[in-house]
Amino acid sequence: MMKKIAVLAGDGIGPEIIAEALKVLDCLKAECGLPIEIEQALIGGAAYDAMGTPLPAQTLKLAQQSDAILLGAVGGPKWEPLDYAARPERALLGLRAELNLFANLRPAILYPHLVDASTLKPDIVSGLDIMIVRELTGGIYFGRPRGVRVNQSGEREGFNTLVYSESEIRRIAQSAFRIAQKREHKLCSVDKANVLECTELWRNVVTEVAKEYADVELKHLYVDNAAMQLVRCPKQFDVLLTDNLFGDILSDCAAMLTGSIGMLPSASLDKDNKGMYEPIHGSAPDIAGKGIANPLATILSLAMLFRYSFGDAESACYVERAVTSALDAGYRTADIHSEGTAKVGTSEMGSAIVDALRASIH
Ligand code: NAD
Repeated sequence: MMKKIAVLAGDGIGPEIIAEALKVLDCLKAECGLPIEIEQALIGGAAYDAMGTPLPAQTLKLAQQSDAILLGAVGGPKWEPLDYAARPERALLGLRAELNLFANLRPAILYPHLVDASTLKPDIVSGLDIMIVRELTGGIYFGRPRGVRVNQSGEREGFNTLVYSESEIRRIAQSAFRIAQKREHKLCSVDKANVLECTELWRNVVTEVAKEYADVELKHLYVDNAAMQLVRCPKQFDVLLTDNLFGDILSDCAAMLTGSIGMLPSASLDKDNKGMYEPIHGSAPDIAGKGIANPLATILSLAMLFRYSFGDAESACYVERAVTSALDAGYRTADIHSEGTAKVGTSEMGSAIVDALRASIH
């Protein structure tokens, strides 16, 4: 059956890195005869400039009607003076909320070729392969009431609400356990149950859900300890389950263990595994238009799309192996370049992946 991918290139380096992911997709379609169609639409600053809104109704409709979404990046200095509601980044929040993309998957994988790019010692990080599963549509980022008010002493005070319903915790926990079942069968749930009642409920519900997944070993860590363990001994982790706020912080920390923001993909999934796939980095305005951006995070996001939304692990593996082969062959974009390797631009890196892909399929 024909599947449809909505492709939203966005701003800055977005169109450059998406172009390379589409080269890879075209190659896969041609070599494996995959019935996939794509349709592109505007998002972010580009959409604001053309249509006065960062998330036009047509773009949202296309995203709703597609089987998966591949996104580049949005934002840039040009749109920073705009009101919050018109900012490019609002389009992402809008898509996540409208499509109910509550499960954010962020792998932190260290490729052996890039071990020197990490700020941690090689023996601490080599072989690192962690999956962070972060709740994305609830918690303190969405809880109400929220705001800034004047209190009884006439002083301004800011307030936010940390709230999670049992069902919100249960569904993200189930997603995380299912992912752990496909990996090393180890899940660590992060909370602050010693101080915050909401996260005490989080711990209790995760413990209940664990009974449905007897083959997965569950442990709980307080978030402060989890942060410490992530830099002390990160390889102890397989899958980390977090709420929205803790996951925002810990996933950036884990990403930097790998030393390469241009290498890390992400997925945001709904309950049926429909998802939006994007690199974790932003639109990199400082290098946009120069043809030097690393397209690998976007190409690896495409691999995640095949694995999670299309249930096609074979195509995902082809793409992931092609990335490894290109790195083995010494191709490096400027952000991951080191002595003795070949520095290439965005398009050459994309072509190197396509060549490796073709060779591995034949
Ligand atoms: P950024 O991730 O865009 O860039 C941080 C640094 O990493 C820059 O030096 C950049 O050149 C480099 N970098 C990022 N991606 C790279 C790649 N693929 N190859 C090589 N180098 C790369 O973060 P920022 O500078 O804080 O944000 C820039 C804009 O992106 C802002 O408008 C921000 O709001 C937006 N943003 C968007 C997303 C998204 O679309 N999901 C995420 C984060 C930031």
